[in-house]
Amino acid sequence: MRVPLLDLKPQYQALRAEIDAAVRAVVESQGFVLGPEVEAFEEEMAAFLQVPHAVGCASGTDALLLPLKALDPRPGDEVILPAFTFFATAGAVWNAGFRPVFCDIDPDTFNVTRETVEAAWTERTRAVIPVHLFGQMAPMGELASLAGERGAFLLEDAAQAIGARQRGNGPEAPDGWTMAGAAGDAGAFSFFPTKNLGAFGDGGLVSVRDSDMAERVAKLRVHGGRQMYHHELVGTNSRLDALQAAVLRVKLRHLGGWEEARRRNACGYHGGLGDLNEVKLPDALEGNHHVYNQYTVRVDVRDALREHLQGRGVGSGIYYPVPLHLQPCFAELGGREGQLPEAERACREVLSLPVFPELGEDRLALVVEEIRTFFAS
Ligand SMILES: *Cc1c(COP(=O)(O)O)cnc(C)c1O
Repeated sequence: MRVPLLDLKPQYQALRAEIDAAVRAVVESQGFVLGPEVEAFEEEMAAFLQVPHAVGCASGTDALLLPLKALDPRPGDEVILPAFTFFATAGAVWNAGFRPVFCDIDPDTFNVTRETVEAAWTERTRAVIPVHLFGQMAPMGELASLAGERGAFLLEDAAQAIGARQRGNGPEAPDGWTMAGAAGDAGAFSFFPTKNLGAFGDGGLVSVRDSDMAERVAKLRVHGGRQMYHHELVGTNSRLDALQAAVLRVKLRHLGGWEEARRRNACGYHGGLGDLNEVKLPDALEGNHHVYNQYTVRVDVRDALREHLQGRGVGSGIYYPVPLHLQPCFAELGGREGQLPEAERACREVLSLPVFPELGEDRLALVVEEIRTFFAS
C-alpha cells in the first residue's frame, strides 16, 4: 500500500456529475471571464466568510498583491510578515512596492504573535500580514489591537486556512466564531488545487471589510478602471475565470465535510503518535478551529525520517526548507542566520504528513506504524 502526500482524484470522482454539469453550463454560455458565475461565487464566499465584500482574482498571490497595491506604497514603506511562510507572501509585498520586514514565529503554532510582530515594527510600518499557516489562525485579537493602536493595515494570508475560525477575536459572528479572512482589514485566499478549496487551476479571492478598499481591489484586477478604457489606477489583469468559479461553487458546498475528515485524520495522528517523545505534534490553540491544510510535525532527525517514509511508499513534504530572510533574492535586505531563530529551526524540523480528506483509516494507520517503526529501531 502506498500513501501519497495528496491525492486529488477521489474528490473529483465523488463529485464528477455535479462538476461536469457546472463546467458544461459555462462552456455552453461561452462567458469565460468574470461575469455571473464569478459574481455568484463572490456572494457565496462573502456569506461563508461573513465579510461585506469578496473580490475574485487570478491567484492567491494576486489576492495578496491587489490589496497591498491598493494601499499605494511610498518608497521605503514596510510590511511585516513571518519569515516562515510560502514565498508568495513576501513576493507580493515586494511586487506591490513595499519593503518586506520579516519577523519570527511562535514555535508551537508556526504563526506570528503580537510580540514577534512588535519586534519588527518601525516608523515605516504600513501593514502586517499574519499568515494562518497550515490551517490555523494567527492570534488575530492581539494583532488587530496592535495594528489598530498604530494605524497599520492588517492583511490576513488565509491561503491555507479557508474555513478556519477563532473564538473571541475580531468582529464577533452570532455564533461566537470569527472566520479567517474576517478578522483583519482584508484577507487573501488561494484556490490552487492543493488548498482545502481547490479549483481546476489557479484562482484567488480577496475578502474586504471596507467598501472603498473593495472598490480599489476590484478596479486593480481589471487594469484600474471599472469602465473599459478609463483608468483611474494602474492595475493589472487578475480576473477569476468563470470555469473556476463554477467548479468552486460546487466544491464550496462540500468544504465542511472535507474539513471534518481532515480534522478526524489529525485526531488519528494525535492518538497514534501522541506518546512519542521524538515527534512534536501540531498544537491547536484553545479557541482555534484548525482546518489542517497541512498536518505538520517537528522532528530532530527530520531528513532521516523522511527518507525512511519514502522507502516505505509514504509521501511527506517539507514546507518550508528555507526561511524567507535567508532567500538569495532578499540578500539586499540584510537578513542573516541566527536573526530569527524559531523560523530557522522550523525550517530544519518540519515534516508534513498526508492529511487529505480521503486518506482513510488504513492508510493513516500505516503512516503511524512506519513512523513508530523508524523510532523503535
Ligand atoms: C498557496 C499560498 C499562497 C499563494 O497562492 P497561489 O494561489 O499559489 O498564488 C500564498 N500564501 C500562502 C501561505 C500559500 O500557502
